[in-house]
Parts: sequence; C-alpha cells; structure tokens
Amino acid sequence: MTGTYTFDGVIIGGGHNALVLAGYLAKSGMKIAVVERTPELGGGLGTVQSSLAAGFYHEYHSQFHRNIPNTPWYKDLDLGSYGVEYIYPQVNNGMPMSDGRNLVIHADPAVTRASIARFSKKDADTYWDVYHRYQDMARAIWAAKDYAPPLPPDEEQELLARSRMGREFLDMNRASAYEVVFDLFDTTALKAFYLFLFSVRGYLPAPTVKGTGFAIVAMTYLGNKAMLPKGGARRLGDALTWMISAHGARIFPATEAERIIIEHDTAVGVETTDGKKLMGKRFVASSVDPTQTFLRLVGEKNLDSSLVAKVKDYKYGVSGKSFGVLFALHAGVRERPAYRSAAWDPLINDSFNCCIGYETPEEVIEHLEEVIDGTPPEVIGMQAACPSIFDATRAPGGKHVLLGWQFAPFALKDGGAEGWERLRGPYAEKMLARWRQYAPNLEPKNIIYSFGQTPVDTQEHLINMREGDFHVGALIPGQLGFNRPFSEVSNYRTPIKHLYLTGAGTHPGGNITGAPGYNAAQVIARDLGLDLWWNPPDPRTIWAQLD
Ligand SMILES: Cc1cc2nc3c(=O)[nH]c(=O)nc-3n(C[C@H](O)[C@H](O)[C@H](O)COP(=O)(O)OP(=O)(O)OC[C@H]3O[C@@H](n4cnc5c(N)ncnc54)[C@H](O)[C@@H]3O)c2cc1C
Repeated sequence: MTGTYTFDGVIIGGGHNALVLAGYLAKSGMKIAVVERTPELGGGLGTVQSSLAAGFYHEYHSQFHRNIPNTPWYKDLDLGSYGVEYIYPQVNNGMPMSDGRNLVIHADPAVTRASIARFSKKDADTYWDVYHRYQDMARAIWAAKDYAPPLPPDEEQELLARSRMGREFLDMNRASAYEVVFDLFDTTALKAFYLFLFSVRGYLPAPTVKGTGFAIVAMTYLGNKAMLPKGGARRLGDALTWMISAHGARIFPATEAERIIIEHDTAVGVETTDGKKLMGKRFVASSVDPTQTFLRLVGEKNLDSSLVAKVKDYKYGVSGKSFGVLFALHAGVRERPAYRSAAWDPLINDSFNCCIGYETPEEVIEHLEEVIDGTPPEVIGMQAACPSIFDATRAPGGKHVLLGWQFAPFALKDGGAEGWERLRGPYAEKMLARWRQYAPNLEPKNIIYSFGQTPVDTQEHLINMREGDFHVGALIPGQLGFNRPFSEVSNYRTPIKHLYLTGAGTHPGGNITGAPGYNAAQVIARDLGLDLWWNPPDPRTIWAQLD
C-alpha cells in the first residue's frame, strides 16, 4: 500500500537494537515508526518452528543471551511485564574431553573451582582469585564501556591512567587473550576452553591479537551468565514489540526501506520498496549495516567521497579476520545428549553450552586459521547445545532440539559462497558425527531429522548480516569503540543532519546486548532536547571515582 505517513522519528530495521531505541523514544512521548523488511520483528531473535516435524523450535540466530534481565534497558522498559521470562541454566558451559574427563563452568564459582581442581589445584585457585579480584574492574571499566557512547581513545586512555585500577586494566589489556590465558593457567584443556569461549563469542579478532587480554579476565566473571528466554529468543522480540506498541509506536513489518529521503542535507523520511513515504519530522535512524545505510539508502551523491571510500573499505566477518560467521547444525532428537564423560562428572549432561572437539589451544588457533583461509575445518570443533533440557516448550513429548555451531568462512576457497549448497547436508552430518564421539547416544536411530544452516542462509534471511557476519562488521581494532563503524560517523551521529545510526554496526557491536540501541537513544534524546527519564551511566564520572 502506498501513501505518506508522518511521525516524529522513523527507525529502519526491526532488530532488538532498533526496538530498544524505539522503546526509549516512544516512552519519551515521540511518535515512532519501525520499518522491518521481514514479516517478523526481532532480527536475530529468530526462533523458527521446524518445517520437518511439528512442535520443534530452532534458533536461527541468537541462542545464548547474556544476563539480559540485568541490563539497564530490560529494567527501564519493564520488559518482564510483557511476557518474556528468562531461564538461567546453572551448568553454564561444559567441555567433555576424549579421555573421558570434563570441565564445567557453573553459575556458582565454587562448583567451577572444584571442577578445575580435579585438573590443577593451582589453576582452580587462580580461577577463584580472578573471579573475585576483578569483578569490580569488569563492571566499572569493561561493562561501563558498553553501555555508554564511546569516548575518543586518547581521552579514554587518559581517564583510565589516572587511577590504579584503570592503569592495571590498561596493562592487562596490552597483552593478547592468548598470552593472558597462558599466563594464568597451566591446564591445556582449560586454556583451550577459555580460547574457544573467547572466540565463539566473537569478542574481538583472533585471540592472538594484542589488546584483547582483559576479555579473558572479564569472561571469568561474566562468562557464566548465559540464559535463554522461555519459548525461544523470539519471545524477547515479542516483548519489545508489544512494549513499543503499548507506547504508541507504529510497526511496518514486511516493509523494506529503499531510500532515506534527504532534503537540504537533512534526513526527513524513508521511502520503502512498496512506495510508502514515512516522514520523520525530527529524525531518521538506521539500525542496518553501514554499507546499506550509506551506499544504498543515503546514496553516494549525498556523501563526501572520503566517507564513501571508508564505507567501501568497511570489513565484514572472515574477510576482516574476525569470527562472527557460523555454520549451524539443527536437529530434532528423541533423547538428549548423554556424554561419555558423565562418569567423570555427571554435571556435563546438564551443560547449556558445550565446547566439543577443541582440547588444546593450538587446535582453536588452527581452526581459526583454516577458516580465514576459506576452508571449513576438516576436524570439527563446535559449540553445542540442547536448549530443550531447560525449556520443554522447544520440542514436543519430551523430545529435544539440538544446535551446533562451527566457525566458517562465508566464501569457500573451493567454490565460493555458492559452494555451501553442496556442503550443507554433508557438513551438518560431519558435525553430528563429531558430537556423537562425545555423546554416543546421538546415533542415527535417535535422530528424527537434521539440517544445516549456512552463512549464506544467514545473509539471505537478514541482509544486514553481510557475509554472514552476525556482528554486522568485523570486530577489529579499526572498527571498534569510537571507530565503529568508522571515526567519521562515530557516536551514532552522521554528517547528514537528523540521520542517526544504531545496531550491531555501531559500538559495541553485535550480540544480544541492546547496547547500541540504548546508547543511541541517549544521543538522540539529548540532541532533540528531550528529558532523559532514565539514568544512563557516564564512564567519565565512574572512572573519575576509581582508586
Ligand atoms: C548463527 C548466529 C548465531 C548467533 N548467536 C548469538 C548468541 O548466541 N548470542 C548473542 O547474543 N548473539 C548471537 N548472534 C548475534 C545476534 O543475533 C546479532 O548480533 C544481533 O541480532 C544484532 O542485532 P541488531 O538489532 O543490531 O540487528 P539484527 O538483529 O540483524 O536486526 C536488523 C533488522 O534489520 C532488518 N533490515 C535489514 N535491511 C533492512 C531494510 N533495508 N529495510 C528494513 N529492514 C531491514 C533485518 O531484516 C533485521 O530484522 C547470532 C547470530 C547468528 C547469525
């Protein structure tokens, strides 16, 4: 349907970051429109019912939601009252090993310490010490950076260097994650476990890159807080959608933005592929990838050539040497995985997130190198989960759903992106076979169906995840913090008046954090002169008070 509609603000894309932004501004009294290309809102909150068997629900995107009920936006937007309910699996991460032993990372650090102590008392004590000693630093520096617009690097450095805690953080962060893991621990399996968790979360580029060190310490404290919404990730998207609707926002699903309407160097609205004009009297915000925002929606003719060059140089996923690209195995099974190593510690069977197939740090690094080279790893090392153990609504009649993720290149060295079509089935089978080595009951008679999701599928579903990159842009030093997506369009503002950015392509990047939406809301509200009814933290103030 064509027509012209007028709002205070129009937001392009309906992923969780756009919805968080819409929530704050709608609650501020703004008349907001959200334009989403697919029929469903939520973007990477994408639970889908299997077309192969009724009642089995799979996550095509996010599975592990980290500590969401404690984020500022979850509380400010009162999302708990819109029907979303989080389940917190206590055995948060597990690593079964081929020699029959295992390691678990538990919600209770004392249980983790006991698990590590069976390998090395020294490592167990180090874990315990790091868990407690750096909690304040993880909260005051690491977490505070995410939930605030980024500061210019020189200012950040100077502010942190004023305190003892800040200097300790800067020192630790000069090293690479790889170096810190080797510095802290002796146990080979524990080092591999840490490097795997670091990489699969796509914190930063390869763990061998300098400047990634503190992530390992932060993970010790923050890494046991993965959760899942009852009924699937989509329930969080639903809660956000219902929340913004309750505050008067208008939603346009199955509606694709084609062009940002620019008059006199000012963004005044959005034109859609079906001919609608959605006018934004006060602002337009784009939550989609920077490439699409600038080259397609704004258009080169409205930009300086230097900015166009920067956009064209913006790197995604593996071509930027970061690891936000995954091949997924999905399956419906009669019985949940029963691990061989349960004889060592039965808690492994209740692990939410299992690290399968990496047992040495060298294996993790070799896999990442293979992926960069364009080769799907021959020996599988994967993240594996059976969410229906914790949430029985995911599968009918006591059956289960499985999810496995393997790092993958988008374009194969042999066959390019199209090559995945040929590998989809065989590679999913290979992952299942690898999982079976650790959980022998995943034999053919237990499998109701299985299928693979390629990085190309990811890009086709959500076009902003270019090259299958779930971070919507490589997390590499030149594209992080104040430089995300690039310094010319930092801090959610653009050179076009009234045009703002949010989404994973802005600080602090991808994953279900809501931080890009939360931070953009603060910037836009301040620019529009709205009263801030919430209380965003200010790193300048927090860091000035550190010892
Ligand atoms: C396989 C996989 C596994 C993942 N696992 C996890 C996990 O376990 N934990 C975690 O925290 N994160 C995970 N992620 C990452 C997470 O899903 C993303 O980082 C997150 O969804 C980004 O949120 P966003 O709101 O910025 O963008 P998105 O969720 O990508 O939403 C952007 C929206 O914009 C829409 N759009 C694009 N172009 C247009 C247009 N022209 N007009 C209108 N709409 C448009 C898209 O359809 C989409 O709905 C995973 C992702 C993938 C692919």
